[in-house]
Amino acid sequence: MLDVVDVGKRSLATYRGIAPDSDLDALHHLSEELRGARCMHLSATPYGGGVSELLRSLVPLYNDLGIVTDWKLIHGDEAFFQVTKRIHNGLQGAPGALTESEKATYLANAQLNAQRLVSDSENYDFVFVHDPQPAVLAALSPHLDTRWIWRCHIDTSHPNPTFWDFLAPYLHAYDAAIFTLREFVPPQLPISDVRIYAPSIDPLSPKNHPLPERLARDVLEWIGIRTHRPLVTQVSRFDRWKDPLGVVRAYQRVRPHVPDLQLALAGSLALDDPEGWSVYEELRAATAGDSLIHILTNLVGVGNIEVNALQALSDVVVQKSVREGFGLVVSETLWKGTPVVGGRVGGIPLQMPDDTGGILVDTVEECAEAMLHLLRHPEEAQLLGARGHEHVRQHFLMPRLLVDHLRLLKHLASVRPLPPRGIVPASFSAANLQGV
Ligand code: UDP
Repeated sequence: MLDVVDVGKRSLATYRGIAPDSDLDALHHLSEELRGARCMHLSATPYGGGVSELLRSLVPLYNDLGIVTDWKLIHGDEAFFQVTKRIHNGLQGAPGALTESEKATYLANAQLNAQRLVSDSENYDFVFVHDPQPAVLAALSPHLDTRWIWRCHIDTSHPNPTFWDFLAPYLHAYDAAIFTLREFVPPQLPISDVRIYAPSIDPLSPKNHPLPERLARDVLEWIGIRTHRPLVTQVSRFDRWKDPLGVVRAYQRVRPHVPDLQLALAGSLALDDPEGWSVYEELRAATAGDSLIHILTNLVGVGNIEVNALQALSDVVVQKSVREGFGLVVSETLWKGTPVVGGRVGGIPLQMPDDTGGILVDTVEECAEAMLHLLRHPEEAQLLGARGHEHVRQHFLMPRLLVDHLRLLKHLASVRPLPPRGIVPASFSAANLQGV
């Protein structure tokens, strides 16, 4: 059996007045024909990155709509996740090649997971497979009567061909694929139904729910941040594509101009990301002895509430990625009205169009200038943050993502009709959804 992640219950009705009405109204109609359908989201880890953040909110909302949905995890050991991180990096364009033994490790693990998938008695109408780690499972489970969807969250616009040539033959089995940007669709993708859907954040999750300012300050003081001093933060996995060392260099350039300035680097060490440890060690070495730099991790209890408080109370949040899928942290930050200095890569510009949200940068020098500019012009920073908040409200909240997903599921069910099932009532009432 695959492990099931326990996600609790959520109600879409509670998003009324927060997310756009048009999305909530659309969900009522879209879900009608899908109630009672069975759906699985399959991923590699229950915590520590954007996919787990998304699924924790999305899966209970599917259930609230009457689509009976599970979130399951593939099994993997350290050796497997070393290989999948290499595949992740290779698909984002890193040099190198997989050895025969790495390929064998990956495929042996995939076979075991496919057996677990098949031995699960439930027959799912739809399976969303998230990212490359479990991507070959559709091809290894051909007898399941399932509509397979590959959701690729990373930038696969220029994959290293040796990695792509290894993975691509296994993708034929998918009925549809979802990418964040059109330019991420890799050359010669063997899936004809391709959708472009941006991820989204949950405004009601513990990470994004408004915190009383007093509580947020206490939370930050508790983890060593002095809240009366200026603060710049980056929140992201310890991953070279997120360029945390570049953030340190940019901060060091700003510091002579703002002597009290603190830097917080909050990073989670995820189960499927063994490389995170070495990046973490490099960061510790590069910042040793500097009491104004705080390196914080999930392993010492920096979780959703702490990240919420950091994003809400920082003067500027940085996301200086050099390659990025979407960067949920940008929307999370803008939702709190805090301005962002973001790398001009992947989905970050989508979240920060002209004069909205903050400043886009390409280099360490530009990053430093943008930080300093926002620190010196708090009114402009506040205005950019406020525009960013509204942009996120319109485009990047969870109900909009559900609308996108349900449109796809309806389409796939029209191409290959679902077996008759007992209708599962949605747990919210139509009246609630329609704001009556
Ligand atoms: N995150 C967190 N704690 C950390 C670092 C990251 O909770 O120390 C969360 C962050 O708030 C966001 C997710 O992990 O929800 C990262 O998603 P993003 O899309 O920015 O990047 P990914 O990790 O998927 O590349």
